[in-house]
Amino acid sequence: MKKKAFITGINGQDGSWLAELLLQRDYDVYGLIRRNSIVDNETARILPNVYDNIKVFYGDLSDYSTLARCLSEIQPDEIYNVAAQSQVRVSFKTPLYTLQTNTIGVANILEAYRQICPSAKFLQASSSEMFGNNFDDDRFQRETTPMHPVSPYGISKLASYHLVRHYRRAYKLFACNSICFNHTGPRRGDFTENRIIRMAVQIKLGLEQNLILGNLDCQRDFGDSRDYVNAMTMIINHDHSDDFVIATGDTHSMRDICEYVFAKLDLNYIDYVIQDPKRFRPEELGYLRGDSTKIRDSLGWEPTINFNTTLDEMIEHWMAIYKMKEK
Ligand code: NAP
Repeated sequence: MKKKAFITGINGQDGSWLAELLLQRDYDVYGLIRRNSIVDNETARILPNVYDNIKVFYGDLSDYSTLARCLSEIQPDEIYNVAAQSQVRVSFKTPLYTLQTNTIGVANILEAYRQICPSAKFLQASSSEMFGNNFDDDRFQRETTPMHPVSPYGISKLASYHLVRHYRRAYKLFACNSICFNHTGPRRGDFTENRIIRMAVQIKLGLEQNLILGNLDCQRDFGDSRDYVNAMTMIINHDHSDDFVIATGDTHSMRDICEYVFAKLDLNYIDYVIQDPKRFRPEELGYLRGDSTKIRDSLGWEPTINFNTTLDEMIEHWMAIYKMKEK
């Protein structure tokens, strides 16, 4: 019999790739989408041929009753909770909403899972933002590194990470955390590296004059979303539930990304990029570099897409969009 997977945030970057991957593996795929006043936005990242082969439910992580109804109807084998208020910057402006979605929302789906389909497996998309500015002596963050988040987003994710571990221990559920470092690609939302690329393309085409950014020297460990959702499927299919860092160990500053992307477009970023201290986070996170030895050694995962290849694909993506708009 086909396995059934339920993906929250199926219209997000990771959720949409995950749906495709699981369809390729012959799963029945179900997803949670949110109502939007522009109907096309509800499924904007789900390709038409994918949409035709999945079943979507309207709902919201804050609504326990809908989650319970979804799980009752589907009786999934695997639950991927990749929905979140995923923007750190926005979390400083909307701390209560962020906690409501990313912490109470996770409590809602865990509780529905425990009560309705406890023999399913559950994966929570946790975040490297949980580490805050803490790292080990070798300057890596790993599963054992103490976590001291420095944003409402990081705090909300740390609370839900602990909820998952609690449900695993207390109720013997197969509940795991993927501790994801930054991952991106052509389906990325409005996060800094994607904004750099979008704006650089607009500057190249004469549509914008300059790009104003916050801290150019903060460093992040970057990978490609497609590799990360593959890692999530490996974690949920492991022989026991556990928590794993997903990271490439390939760390870049925003300045490095500006330099690379503008140079690819035959521009010098120094002529266009302005650092504005007013755009710094209220509490900064300077450096993230993940050690993914555990998932590489125990599950055989490794990233397959080089970061420059991902950036090149994102440049092409934005170039195609703005060239089409010009026509
Ligand atoms: P994303 O593109 O922002 O997708 C998030 C999805 O969650 C969207 O589809 C969004 O719906 C949905 N959503 C937001 N609030 C919701 C709510 N209250 N109820 C139901 N759905 C809701 O994020 P992503 O990059 O795919 O990230 C996936 C997960 O990994 C997130 O949990 C994120 O926090 C975590 N993570 C990501 C990164 C990264 O670098 N990408 C790193 C670490 C952890 P709409 O489509 O309607 O907006």
